[in-house]
Amino acid sequence: EDVVISTRDLTRHFRVGGGFLGGPARVVRAVDGVTLDIRARETFALVGESGCGKTTLGRVMLRLQEPTSGTVAYRGTDLTGLDEGAMNALRKKLQIVFQDPYASLNPRMRVGEILAEPLRSHGFGSSAEIRERSAELLEMVGLRRQYLRNYPHQFSGGQRQRIGIARALANGPDFVVCDESVSALDVSIQAQVLNLLADLQDQLKLTYLFITHDLAVVRQFADRVGVMFLGQLVEVGRTEELFAAPLHPYTMLLMEAVPRPDPHQRGRDRPILTGEIPSPMNLPPGCRFHTRCPFARDICRVEDPALQERGGRTVACHFPLNG
Ligand code: SF4
Repeated sequence: EDVVISTRDLTRHFRVGGGFLGGPARVVRAVDGVTLDIRARETFALVGESGCGKTTLGRVMLRLQEPTSGTVAYRGTDLTGLDEGAMNALRKKLQIVFQDPYASLNPRMRVGEILAEPLRSHGFGSSAEIRERSAELLEMVGLRRQYLRNYPHQFSGGQRQRIGIARALANGPDFVVCDESVSALDVSIQAQVLNLLADLQDQLKLTYLFITHDLAVVRQFADRVGVMFLGQLVEVGRTEELFAAPLHPYTMLLMEAVPRPDPHQRGRDRPILTGEIPSPMNLPPGCRFHTRCPFARDICRVEDPALQERGGRTVACHFPLNG
């Protein structure tokens, strides 16, 4: 199986406080030892509550942020060892679509300029070729080529996100991180943009890392899911299996916390996530989920569970469910 991105024990720590602000400096372990392979042409979703480190992990994978330790490789090339020139050459293949189409497009640039910029910076060709390619890109995302002359404010949110996607596709990427790319859109527009992403994936043989807090989107769109809690992957598995029978208590509670579409189910007694998320600056000993876990036993308070293999899935828990 082709692996597009692989991380090994990847960490990203931030130092906060200290200096002239006073107080001791502390370390936030935003990403804390992630080992993961993303396979060619799959959609891998990364889920978890805000602050779990999923956005940081996506950025470290693309080296938009430097890792603190560990490695990330793109098709066998260790990105962490590359100098800036070599990394820039690979950037064509590694792209990101941001959450907010309003903030990520320069309001003073025409769409033609927005799309020409990445093409020019990778030496795409003559001005005429760049213009033609930009028009093609617009058509690929379902917009008319005449829109090259327009400014971002003249488009709807969904159209702007299409332009953001066109920009990410400019240089023929292989791996695309979609960081909450449809979260800011209305549900009906969301569905259209998701369909577009799925079509583009087929056409262009793309591999996606889908970062989202929206489990309904994950269920519909992802092949595999990684569940993150406080900087670590606690469960990885195929989407259907993970939803049908979660192994990690956190996965189960995360899914139970989603409002159900069926009104008869609403308000029924069901466990939801309770308790404070421990501070990533002050992690509890043992399993970092034990302060919120309804199944915690003594060993959970002292021993950090390692990620273990279970029938093609991985889970970090001393007492996996549905086992
Ligand atoms: Fe809960 Fe223990 Fe599993 Fe952690 S290791 S998730 S505390 S049962």
